[in-house]
Amino acid sequence: MKVNHKPQVVVLGGNFAGLTTARFIREHCGDSVDITLIDRKPYLLFIPNIPLEVLANRDPAQSLHMPILQTLRKDDTNFIQGAVTDIDVANAMISFIPAERAGSATEHLRYDYLVLALGARLAYDKIEGFAEHAHTLSDCFYGNKLRQYLHGGGYKGGPIAIGSARFFQGQKGKPDWMPIAEAACEGPVVEAAFSLATWLKEHRLGDGKNITLFTPAKTIAEDAGEPIVKELLEIATEMGFGYRSNTRDIKRISAEGIEFIHGDSLEAELKLVLPNWESHDFMKRLPIVDEAGFVITDLTMSNKDYPNVFAVGDCAALTVPKIGGHGDQQARIVANQIAKHMGKMSAEEADKPFWPGFTCMGDMGAHKAFYMHTDTWYGGKTSVLKMGYRYYEMKLAFKQMYYEMGGKTPSWGIPLTQFIAERL
Ligand SMILES: Cc1cc2nc3c(=O)[nH]c(=O)nc-3n(C[C@H](O)[C@H](O)[C@H](O)COP(=O)(O)OP(=O)(O)OC[C@H]3O[C@@H](n4cnc5c(N)ncnc54)[C@H](O)[C@@H]3O)c2cc1C
Repeated sequence: MKVNHKPQVVVLGGNFAGLTTARFIREHCGDSVDITLIDRKPYLLFIPNIPLEVLANRDPAQSLHMPILQTLRKDDTNFIQGAVTDIDVANAMISFIPAERAGSATEHLRYDYLVLALGARLAYDKIEGFAEHAHTLSDCFYGNKLRQYLHGGGYKGGPIAIGSARFFQGQKGKPDWMPIAEAACEGPVVEAAFSLATWLKEHRLGDGKNITLFTPAKTIAEDAGEPIVKELLEIATEMGFGYRSNTRDIKRISAEGIEFIHGDSLEAELKLVLPNWESHDFMKRLPIVDEAGFVITDLTMSNKDYPNVFAVGDCAALTVPKIGGHGDQQARIVANQIAKHMGKMSAEEADKPFWPGFTCMGDMGAHKAFYMHTDTWYGGKTSVLKMGYRYYEMKLAFKQMYYEMGGKTPSWGIPLTQFIAERL
């Protein structure tokens, strides 16, 4: 019988944060560890480009499902298609149900190192009237539903409301410098408003004046920092957008529009909504999470009580707002940490802490995009907002590079993007 003495690294979740972590662990640790990645699906969904595909009338499932099996096989990383149902951190054991067919029995897997990269649960099911009356852009089903509505003549030119439900961020273990967000991820809201305004013009159905942006927070996209928000709002006003802040939360959505919890409402024919980013139900019971169910970590993404447990991406409490750029940085940190444990990297190199400044690019239609690089919300000094054709090309190029590198983009990728965007 073969006895396997190698440390077992188990990565839960194989989208942006999980795939990148697994790949860099293999790069740094070589064959000194066994790696198993578990996800419900055998592909990565390239979520940030869904809005762009939908407005271009392309099925996002055709272009944004990136298969991961071959990449993992080349890395000698084992893949299990399963739904994780529990984690026993005291006994270093996870439970999952094989997901290829219904009816499978619960299986267990032991780990030496665990990386949680399970993202979040986008709670559309908690918004009354969402399925019947609203639209969104966060996966291929909803993207195609909106695509058919817009391109199939469903939209008649009436008012459009675009915004978010309230996000509830946990505070347990939160570093002092980290503000409390009331919306999980408003980049897509801003992106959808700009690109839809262009689409309306192109299809002679109106322009920015059709659209009202709303936010549960004091200002929209507040995590972009005050200088950028001010500039964005000036541009939004010039484009004719309406704007409603402090809506607190959505009470219900009806055919007529959106009702907010304090009794005010917005009339709208098209309601484009992003929900609360919640933790997965089984995670809320774990001893490693905050009040909202997100995994508490230090700045090396490790849990203080269970230092062999790491979290990356949207399921980590430190990921606020919930954007992929944070997950990418955290994935590299966790791979370095595990390499350090395996004696493959010095502490000096591995222990560089997470800093939540971020770079993000959003489509504006007509081959233009916005680019932002900011950390002022967390007390930093970086605040760059640019708009133009170059940033659209860069957004497309990023996806191309991501596919070609199988999620393992070079460490100079983001600094190079910043250099091209900000200096050239
Ligand atoms: C419309 C839209 C546009 C966006 N645009 C941008 C952008 O331009 N830039 C940016 O940085 N961010 C953007 N984001 C945010 C970005 O998509 C997320 O931050 C990113 O996807 C998080 O990556 P993740 O790997 O942590 O989680 P996810 O991408 O959510 O992946 C989680 C993975 O875990 C798997 N999983 C979940 N539960 C289980 C389970 N129980 N068992 C097994 N597997 C499970 C899922 O199948 C999935 O593969 C956007 C988000 C939206 C909705």
